[in-house]
Parts: sequence; structure tokens; C-alpha cells
Amino acid sequence: MSYLMSNYAPLAVTFVKGNGCYLTDDKGATYLDALCGVGVTGLGHSHPKISKAIQSQAQQLLHTSNWYHIQHQETLAETLCKLANMDGAFFGNSGAEANEAAIKIARLHAHANQINEPIILTAKQSFHGRTMATLSATGNPKVQAGFAPLVSEFIHVNFNDIKAIQEHENNARITAVMLEPIQGESGVIVPDANYLNQVQKICQKNNWLLILDEVQTGIGRTGKMFAHQYNQITPDVLTLAKGLGNGVPIGACLAKGKAAKLLTPGTHGSTFGGNPLVCRVALEVLDIIQKDDILNNVTLMSDYIVSSFTDKLKTVDSVLEIRSKGLMIAIELTKECSQLLQQALDKKLLINITGQSIRLLPPLIINKEQADEMIDIICELVSEL
Ligand SMILES: *Cc1c(COP(=O)(O)O)cnc(C)c1O
Repeated sequence: MSYLMSNYAPLAVTFVKGNGCYLTDDKGATYLDALCGVGVTGLGHSHPKISKAIQSQAQQLLHTSNWYHIQHQETLAETLCKLANMDGAFFGNSGAEANEAAIKIARLHAHANQINEPIILTAKQSFHGRTMATLSATGNPKVQAGFAPLVSEFIHVNFNDIKAIQEHENNARITAVMLEPIQGESGVIVPDANYLNQVQKICQKNNWLLILDEVQTGIGRTGKMFAHQYNQITPDVLTLAKGLGNGVPIGACLAKGKAAKLLTPGTHGSTFGGNPLVCRVALEVLDIIQKDDILNNVTLMSDYIVSSFTDKLKTVDSVLEIRSKGLMIAIELTKECSQLLQQALDKKLLINITGQSIRLLPPLIINKEQADEMIDIICELVSEL
């Protein structure tokens, strides 16, 4: 029996080692990792520079608390703010914590503007985390089931529907709009090219904060450092986590202009957040992405993978649609396909299934050979469906 609580249902495999795009289990078998711990280990497992950064920082200093200056945290804040055109950063340990900070900033923004019972607009089918506030923000009843009363107040609007947001323009209680630029957990839902630009216009007109949850889409996953850079906009608040630490737990909430000034001493904090170890590693991640031209690889491999799938699956009846942005890729099928998870594992490939879609989040460092390996297994599985 297991002494773990039953909130996960893990597959029957235990990985003991990772190297680049591959994992090895406790029986010595190797697997291609096309999931990356759900979009986390974008630079691959056991990246030599990251292992070295962890090792050297561990020998130097792990933790002091935020009651004292932390050099790497200040450097990381500056690096991220310059990359994202933002003015201030807060560090937590996860995506949910980054979003909690964003929600607290939205509440402060409301109260600074005499809105006593603020509402944040979020999208249906969104995912923002598992804490009480972030699951309340999440537009998925399954995530919320059993946890009432929810944190009020979030209104869930249709994603990629400007009118659905405009309809709330005369509601004086609205203080912010919070969106994923591309919805990840619900299966790589890519909105129209100018959707975010239009949302930003509405936010600016109404003095609402635009909060973009880039926990999954950020740090190169879509082929830009941040997905919203495809729209040439700057949000008021930007949240990051998954790929930022390549496996060490770190979340960041960045903010711009007035939104960057709302957290004042005593209003928010985290014991572990932004410690020397995780910040040192995140700095290394950002450095590798830039020096090794990772964004270019993401775009090249994305084009290659998507055109291969499009070509090889065009005569397969069970394929409804292929959606992608960079290395967030989903293949939507016409029928239930949860069995593919185990079937892929049997063929030594790690994937995700969400709804009726296969979701792939391959490493940002994947090469053509490894991409072919992934494509072949997926095509085989889908054709046999
Ligand atoms: C994964 C995810 C989160 C939650 O991150 P945790 O680190 O699990 O708390 C929030 N938002 C988005 C878009 C995510 O993909």
C-alpha cells in the first residue's frame, strides 16, 4: 500500500535518470519525453550547465529568507523585467503562487480605485492552478467540484470572444481580465491573431489590468520568450513558472507601471520564494535559451513536426484537427483516446491526453531525429485507433 494521498493516479513506471530528451526507468528502459514534466524541463534533463549551476550554488548558499537582499533574485528580476518590458517582479514557488500574487495585485488595484467588491474576468476552459483563488479563477467545473464555497468573484467568459468581454464593460466592479495567451491544459487552444490586442484595448479603456498567465506558454515554449510577444503588446501583469526553473520550483509574477507599485512591505511574501538556488538556476535557463538560440530551434522544430503530422495524418479519419504554437502541439481526435497514454508508454514515449486530444510539449532542444521518433510513434498509435 502507498502512504501517499490519492490525488494522483500515476502510471506504473518509475524514472530514475534523465538525459536530454530521454528518461530511464528503474529497469533500465529508455523513453522519449515529449511531455517535459508538463512543460517544465524544456532544456532537457540533466543539462550540464544547469546541473553545474545547482551544484555550485548549493555549495555557496541555499537560503536566507527575504528579510535580507538576495543578489541572484535581484539580477533575475532585472533580467526578466528587461526581457518582458516589465517594471517589477515577485517570486514564489509555483504557477499557482504566481497567479495568487497576480490576483492580490488586481484586488489592490480595485481598492485603489474605490471598487470594494472587485470581479476578475477569466475564460471558460482556462487553467490557473489548484489553490482556492486560482481554482476559482479556473474555468473548469471539474477543477472546482467539491471545493465550494469558491473565492469570489470571477466571471468566466468564452475564450477568443471579444464580445463576451465587451458585454461587461459597464460593470463597474470589474478590475481585471486574466487569460492564458494560449490555453494549455484544455488542449492548446490558440485564439485569433489579434484577440489579445483587442482585449488589451478594452482593458486600457476601462482601467482594468490585463493579467496574462504565461505559466505554460512562457520561457520559449511557443517560439518567443513570451507568447504575448506575437501580439506586440505588454500586459500589466505577467505570470511565469513551469519552464523558468527547468525543474527547480520557481514562479514569478511580473508587473508594469502602476501595477508594479501595489505590493508594499507586509502585503505579500513567501518563505522560500526567490531563494538563491532557484534564482541562480533560472538565470542559467534564460542564458542558455539566448546563447544556444533555443527560440529558433522551437520554431524550426514546430514547423517540421506540424507539417509532418499534417502530411502523415491527412488520410486518418480519426484526426479532427491539429493545433499548435511553437512546441505546444495538440492532435484532436474524433473519439475518446485516454488509452493512448498507456499505449504510448508501452512504445517508450511520454505524452499527455486532454479531453479527446493528444497533447505534446516536447523539449525545446529536440532535434529532427528525436522529432521523427515521436512523430512515428504517434502516427502509429493514431492509425491503429
Ligand atoms: C500549470 C499551470 C498553472 C499552475 O502551475 P502550478 O505550478 O502547478 O501551480 C497555472 N497556469 C497555467 C496556465 C498552467 O499551465
